[in-house]
Amino acid sequence: MRTLTVKFFITLFLLTLCAQEGFAKTTPERIDLGHGAWEYRWGDSPFEEGVPVWTKGQERASWQAIAFPSNPPDRHGQTNVWYRIPLPQALPYDPTLYIFSIDLIAEFYLDGQKIYQYGTFDATGKGKFIGWPWHMISLPKDAGGKQLYVRVYSDYPDIGLWGEAVIASKSSHILNMFRGDFFRISIGSVALFVGVLFLAGCVLRFSNLETFLLSSLFLTQGLDLMLSAKSIQFFFQYPLLERYLMSFNYFFFPVGMAAFLERIAGVGPFGLVRRIWQAHLAFLVVAIGGALAGLFNLSSTYPAFDYMYYFFSLPILTLWAIRAALREPQEMRVVATGLLVVSGYWAYSSLVSWGIIAWTEPEQHLVMFVCLCLFGYVVIRRLLHVEDLKKANAQLSLANAQLNHMQQNLKRLAMTDHLTGVFNRKKLDEMLRYERLRAERDNGIFGVILLDIDDFKKVNDTFGHQVGDEVLIKFGKLLQSSVRAVDTVGRWGGEEFLIICPQTDAEGLEHLAQSLCRQVGETFFAEAGHQTASFGLAIFQKEETVDNLIMRADKALYVAKSEGKNKVVLL
Ligand code: GH3
Ligand code: MG
Ligand code: MG
Repeated sequence: MRTLTVKFFITLFLLTLCAQEGFAKTTPERIDLGHGAWEYRWGDSPFEEGVPVWTKGQERASWQAIAFPSNPPDRHGQTNVWYRIPLPQALPYDPTLYIFSIDLIAEFYLDGQKIYQYGTFDATGKGKFIGWPWHMISLPKDAGGKQLYVRVYSDYPDIGLWGEAVIASKSSHILNMFRGDFFRISIGSVALFVGVLFLAGCVLRFSNLETFLLSSLFLTQGLDLMLSAKSIQFFFQYPLLERYLMSFNYFFFPVGMAAFLERIAGVGPFGLVRRIWQAHLAFLVVAIGGALAGLFNLSSTYPAFDYMYYFFSLPILTLWAIRAALREPQEMRVVATGLLVVSGYWAYSSLVSWGIIAWTEPEQHLVMFVCLCLFGYVVIRRLLHVEDLKKANAQLSLANAQLNHMQQNLKRLAMTDHLTGVFNRKKLDEMLRYERLRAERDNGIFGVILLDIDDFKKVNDTFGHQVGDEVLIKFGKLLQSSVRAVDTVGRWGGEEFLIICPQTDAEGLEHLAQSLCRQVGETFFAEAGHQTASFGLAIFQKEETVDNLIMRADKALYVAKSEGKNKVVLL
């Protein structure tokens, strides 16, 4: 199984390498307009018969140079801007302009003709936010050398194009996207899978809040990762819906993080950590709900969130997560570190989106990968811990069973005669007291048989002590197998045995004793040959003591001996 897994990953790795190699060879020329001769001009162009006047190439002086068509200086609250750039003479086959994203809506013109539009401009040159997807704009074959004009509207802090603006063949763009998305989608699906797994675990087994919060963090971050994969847009072309989902995921992160930190490390000074998740939850509901209700654009909620999160919540949560990472038990430490990594990423991505750090493709999947590794480590540790507990438990129950067994043995030994295996004197005393009590209480009867092997001294003297012992053992067995299960057989001492017979009257007792007497006589004791025994019987009389009962049996035995032995006497 392990070798199979290893082989699988090696194959996957090699395939990826080959695919990258293949892509690299088939990728044709790419022209990065990020370093082109862009110009901008604040305001909106008047239109003459549907053609924007500014695209006619007059008023050259009004245009100003800018490195990238984004956020020109001196905005002063303006919502409209135009950009333009001369396209290179030589364009690749099937020339297509790829743009990472647009703030917020735009129209592209070539030769005064609109060649692409994203969003709808009203008569006043304004329009609604409809999401932040990527764009692929097919350029006419003869576009080389012409001026490309871009009309932009935005009431968002950023205005213009964002990220990348690259001309290449359409196929090259598509291949590029799929290549870039490979890890993003694989890690995103693993994150979603982990999220679903923990959600299921949460519902079915351990209904604790930490697990639920972690699963929701994985689900939202995993979904965010999937939706941010560019190739997903080929199948899922609802940029606004996508943006709502992504906003939910983005806004939810501090809620989940703060609530989780509260669970593992407390509410923090002044209950700040709790206040943070409550505030962010309220924000999430109001922002998404308000935008859905059409009260404001979803894009306008972002700056408010960013201010709240980066200048207030994130610093506090970061400190709290560091504290948790230093002080909490190791598993929680690792999870807190994971949260730090994610929030670090969000901070980084915001610095990029504010233009403080140069633009790079977001590496969110790497962050998620680190989190998954950390999380996997925690889960494995937990599993190992559970395994250890199971082992310890098994050992404990084994020890318990052994102890039980030993206790039983001790109990048995304490009431057994070590030579013959029948009950000992101690147990006989106990049983006698018990039977007496029972008889007194229930008005019942019981009897005892005291028997003594005849001339046993001779056996010892003639054949030795060993043979005597063997006779005693056989005697015990004989008695034990000849009485009822409710009767008690024990060694009274030396070569004397006592049998207690509950619910037995004189007739029954005598009958049993006679039968035993006969059986003893018929038994052949190996070297010792035939033996006999004498039996003294007594039936319990109301209110007599145990000692008295035994004394009467002893008397009967004495009579049996004096009358010639090998007989039964009941007094
Ligand atoms: P009686 O018919 O009058 O009972 O004569 P007896 O020889 O059987 O009685 P006595 O009391 O004179 O002798 C009992 C003998 O039983 C003496 C002792 O050595 C022997 N004996 C007692 N306990 C044991 C034992 O555990 N093993 C063996 N081998 N002999 C024992
Ligand atoms: Mg004796
Ligand atoms: Mg004897």
